[in-house]
Amino acid sequence: MLRNDQLDQWDRENFFHPSTHLAQFARGEAPNRIITGGTGSHIEDREGNRLLDAFAGLYCVNVGYGRQDIADAIAEQAKELAYYHAYVGHGTEASITLSKMILDRAPDHMSKVYFGLSGSDANETNIKLIWYYNNILGRPEKKKIISRWRGYHGSGLMTGSLTGLHLFHQKFDLPLSQVIHTEAPYYYRRDDVSMSEDQFVAHCAAELEAMIEREGADTIAAFIGEPVLGTGGIVPPPAGYWEAIQPILEKHDILLIADEVVTGFGRLGTMFGSEHYGLKPDLITIAKGLTSAYAPLSGSIVSDKMWKVLEQGTDENGPIGHGWTYSAHPIGAAAGVANLKLLDDLNLIANNREVGGYLNKTMTEALGHHPNVGEVRGEGMLCAVEFVKDKDSRTFFDAADKIGPQIASALVADNVIGRAMPQGDILGFAPPFCLTRAEADEVVEKTCRAVRAVLG
Ligand code: PMP
Repeated sequence: MLRNDQLDQWDRENFFHPSTHLAQFARGEAPNRIITGGTGSHIEDREGNRLLDAFAGLYCVNVGYGRQDIADAIAEQAKELAYYHAYVGHGTEASITLSKMILDRAPDHMSKVYFGLSGSDANETNIKLIWYYNNILGRPEKKKIISRWRGYHGSGLMTGSLTGLHLFHQKFDLPLSQVIHTEAPYYYRRDDVSMSEDQFVAHCAAELEAMIEREGADTIAAFIGEPVLGTGGIVPPPAGYWEAIQPILEKHDILLIADEVVTGFGRLGTMFGSEHYGLKPDLITIAKGLTSAYAPLSGSIVSDKMWKVLEQGTDENGPIGHGWTYSAHPIGAAAGVANLKLLDDLNLIANNREVGGYLNKTMTEALGHHPNVGEVRGEGMLCAVEFVKDKDSRTFFDAADKIGPQIASALVADNVIGRAMPQGDILGFAPPFCLTRAEADEVVEKTCRAVRAVLG
């Protein structure tokens, strides 16, 4: 086995880590952590630490670590047939079974699932399908995509553009011109603090209408949104938001993409967030919870309405020119089948509702009154604590003070992982669905300790 100092050196010399401060890391000024194992809600590192992972990796290890059933399914598939492509009608029992399992769980009006590898490529697929769809319908001008500020939809050229966070645009020449951003449904951060929740919803709807009028509905193809904003701050929408947005989209014949990469397969306590908020999307993006990250796999679930037009397109033009070598990779598909079975067999979504509710309630009780906590919010097994300099005047800290990252560091030093969300001083939690009440108590207790250590 390699020595730790040797690994550390190779890590800093060779490994280009994503979403990392490159210079500080290479100079050895930013920490690294080498992960060696995991069971349930915990991971272990090479230094012998055992950490409660209250972010489930990147909100993806939904069934928890160390699941033998999924590991066995992957091993069996790898031994039997590690790979064959899915082009021109090829498939495997795993990919076909998984398609059926996904459609059985998706809203009734959904028709087919296209497989990719990541949330980003699934959203790239969605945009291509929408452009194809409008070309087939003879509407070549109807191509722009509306996204929200603080939305997160990936890191590709198109999906990085859809993402409404400055860090993902700056110095990359993004967003691309086909993407426009509208108001985030983030009531706590509304510009005008005197607005009621209802007024704020009306304001979001009016902003969207104005944008559509300004740009011209005949130039706008789709609206993309996460049912609950994730990376942008873990923000459930104010009551009535989706009810106000959907009719506007329908009125202007604008398709809806529900990006359920985080919310799909149970994170909000329902199978899909679309169910939770009464959405009727034309496309649903899935990834993370589809395999609980035991293997990379994503998907675009396509509605009946779109499918009919895509079929017509191939009748007119031949096979659809869109495919990845690894679309429907058998190992990912086998992991997906085993994962969705486990989700049912262990009743994990019910646990999620119960323990997620408990986590949100106890976190609110413990920190809701702290003078530097502006808001504790969440839904299902998602929870966030937003820190402010002054609660009464809702004054935010300077980003340079790095309050969120400092609290997250204090917490991890106490062996609990939360995530400092990238924009604003927000500590996020998205634990595995198998979290116990005792583990939820530990998360809350140690978060309070970390907050006291940084803010007093
Ligand atoms: N959409 C959402 C809502 C996400 O949260 C993410 C990833 N955090 C993505 C898309 C992109 O997924 P990936 O990182 O797998 O490309």
